[in-house]
Amino acid sequence: MDLFEYQGKQYFARYDIPVSPGDVALTVDDAVAVAERIDYPVVVKAQVQVGGRGKAGGIKLADNVDEARTHATNILGMDIKGHVVERLWIETASDIEEEYYASFTLDRAAKKHLLMLSAEGGVEIETVAEENPDAIVKLHIDPVDGLDLATARQAAVDAKIPERALDGTADILVKLYRCFTEGDCDLAEINPLILKPTGEVHALDAKVTLDWNAAFRHPEWDEYSLTEVLDEREQLAKSKGLQYIGLDGDVGIIANGAGLAMSTLDVVNQVGGSAANFLDIGGGANADVMAAALDVINHDENVKSILINIFGGITRGEEVAKGIVEAMGRVDLRAPIVIRLDGTNAEEGRQIILDAGIAADKLISKPTMLEAAREAVALAGKGN
Ligand code: GDP
Ligand code: MN
Repeated sequence: MDLFEYQGKQYFARYDIPVSPGDVALTVDDAVAVAERIDYPVVVKAQVQVGGRGKAGGIKLADNVDEARTHATNILGMDIKGHVVERLWIETASDIEEEYYASFTLDRAAKKHLLMLSAEGGVEIETVAEENPDAIVKLHIDPVDGLDLATARQAAVDAKIPERALDGTADILVKLYRCFTEGDCDLAEINPLILKPTGEVHALDAKVTLDWNAAFRHPEWDEYSLTEVLDEREQLAKSKGLQYIGLDGDVGIIANGAGLAMSTLDVVNQVGGSAANFLDIGGGANADVMAAALDVINHDENVKSILINIFGGITRGEEVAKGIVEAMGRVDLRAPIVIRLDGTNAEEGRQIILDAGIAADKLISKPTMLEAAREAVALAGKGN
């Protein structure tokens, strides 16, 4: 789960990473109250889970109460790359001498943690990677060994971070690594990590992605569920209790079992298409679940075809078929369905679909996963 900047900073603070004092505000009056409390100058920061807020006008410095009010008024409700600003973070403004970049992620291929560090922070790291890749130091860290202060300091030297910022940077890197590992993050990023004129090094922004598989050992994470940002499709899916993840392709996917659903995405890709979603209806799914799944997919305006891939085990073919027929009676599906139905009671299922007399251009049955994927991708106007 992605955290908002303010949540990320509060998370950092648990690990002693220096951040500016501040508070969250949901209204203009709250924002002004926070600004008055922490003293000027303050920064008014849009809290949306997308980068480039600064450039979009979502981050403003305020020197007095009037400016705080003006900025809070302008930023609340602002649309930043499709994300509407519903909350602000107000913090004490920092003087910036230099801006750096630091992050930890997991490099799955290397089976190690990866530190990325650069003296060129404040801009998107993708831009630095493209224009000046040598400016990014990449260091793999064996999770068994961890990261010590001397290694962190050497990485900072290699990144050409100036002498007077080395100790502060190394100290933060070690703390950020602890936050990343003990805090069960998939990503812990500080951009910019700043050097102040006083010589202190400080986290000015925070991007944290938590590994939700570790939620069971973090009861303190419960609060994050309350502010979780889901797109409309994901909200609907969640309300129906479905395992759904929105993607940006045009082939809607329904499969039973996470493994089969992922394989289905792969096969759709392999034949030149792109999936609109991941949706696992689980083992033992019945007609109601199938109808709910189709309803969610039907709400996705990008969907041009729907691929249903069912290998019946506990899930029974005739239940799946009943669900499809029922759903097609209930909602006016705007995309054709291609189905591959195999396994338990697949014959009975196919018979139910035949008996329902659904038009041949609305529901197409294919005997294998590959053929079904090809057909669905072709119906979406793509494929090879
Ligand atoms: P992002 O644009 O979404 O990455 O938001 P950031 O939190 O990284 O802020 C963007 C930029 O705003 C930073 O790189 C700084 O240049 C500027 N900024 C943010 N906070 C402060 C502050 O306290 N003082 C000053 N002078 N500039 C700030
Ligand atoms: Mn930033």
